[in-house]
Amino acid sequence: MIERLCVIGVGLIGGSLARAVREAGFCQEVVGAGRNPQNLQAAVDLGVIDRYETDLGKAVSGADMVLVSVPLGAMAAVFDAISGHLAEHAVLTDAGSAKGSVIDAARQAFAGLPASFVPGHPIAGTEQSGVEASFAGLYRGRRVILTPLPETDGHALDLVRDMWEAAGAEVTEMDPLHHDTVLAATSHLPHVLAYALVESLASLSDDGEVFDYAAGGFRDFTRIASSDPVMWRDICLANGDAIQLMIEHFVADLQELTTAIENRDGQQLLDIFSSAKAARDRYVKE
Ligand code: NAP
Repeated sequence: MIERLCVIGVGLIGGSLARAVREAGFCQEVVGAGRNPQNLQAAVDLGVIDRYETDLGKAVSGADMVLVSVPLGAMAAVFDAISGHLAEHAVLTDAGSAKGSVIDAARQAFAGLPASFVPGHPIAGTEQSGVEASFAGLYRGRRVILTPLPETDGHALDLVRDMWEAAGAEVTEMDPLHHDTVLAATSHLPHVLAYALVESLASLSDDGEVFDYAAGGFRDFTRIASSDPVMWRDICLANGDAIQLMIEHFVADLQELTTAIENRDGQQLLDIFSSAKAARDRYVKE
């Protein structure tokens, strides 16, 4: 239980966390912060936050916990803006989809990594963005990965864990570099592929005729290509090395499949598809 939570970036991720912890009675007051007063007023009207500030220094002043949930490309500017304004006891955390770049940005803005900083990443989301898309149940039963560093204070880590558990999440810990490698495979590569497939098909004809004949499979495969382009640009820039490795690995596998089709090698195709089906069936059952 804390008194004041400050959420910088009251969109899908920050707004959902605010809704969930309010519902759970984890904090008495939620202060929202961001650039656009209209978005922030909408968050007040929706009952997501109690009040807001557009001056980030003012927003964090007196907060017990600060969650930064802005796009990765905005993290450095936000850390710069709040540096020197956090209360002495304040715990700082974030929700960024890549961890190495956020840790570097914090190290630079605060002239060394603050012991009270606990990097985090909720493995939950939708292809929608903005506070209107937020909902209290987003984290229920979902994983949140915290990537504490040797300098991270144990009390700060416990408090961030408590906050996500209050929102219904299952919290695990991971090394930041390992996090970025794993997420490049399981989340970043699939998003890049979904965007690439839709873009590639869209360029086949000017009138979008190809989409008139798309069925459920296409819709399922490409849902995540409706995600926010700014967020995904930032993720590709922030975690570029790991994503590039995954794309190279994938291209090699796709080449193998192409060769099997070229050779009309039915057995090879059956082997690849059967192995993939078994892997997905296992994943879906878990
Ligand atoms: P979102 O819905 O677009 O919300 C982002 C919020 O940040 C907006 O309310 C925006 O409000 C604010 N913002 C943007 N630039 C800012 C800046 N320079 N200074 C202050 N505020 C700024 O995005 P989201 O999906 O919640 O994602 C937020 C973070 O969570 C990202 O780092 C993303 O990588 C991570 N994440 C996303 C997902 C997902 O599936 N969506 C999942 C896990 C983690 P204003 O325009 O009013 O400033």
